[in-house]
Amino acid sequence: MECKKEENLEFCNCSYPCEKKGLCCECIKYHRELGELPACYFDDATEKTYDRSVEKYLSSKK
Ligand code: SF4
Repeated sequence: MECKKEENLEFCNCSYPCEKKGLCCECIKYHRELGELPACYFDDATEKTYDRSVEKYLSSKK
């Protein structure tokens, strides 16, 4: 399977300058190991806080 980085970048909402952008497998692995979620779980305004915690995700859904 070929990497779909260019296709993934079309829906990636992450605004943080990061080399994992579009590389969803590396992105989710990185955040999962930290007990976090990747940017695409958050709306654009919440994503820009760069707080990727599960708590932030849950509070953004209230
Ligand atoms: S969500 Fe995190 S790992 Fe993924 S591209 Fe953004 S800053 Fe990088």
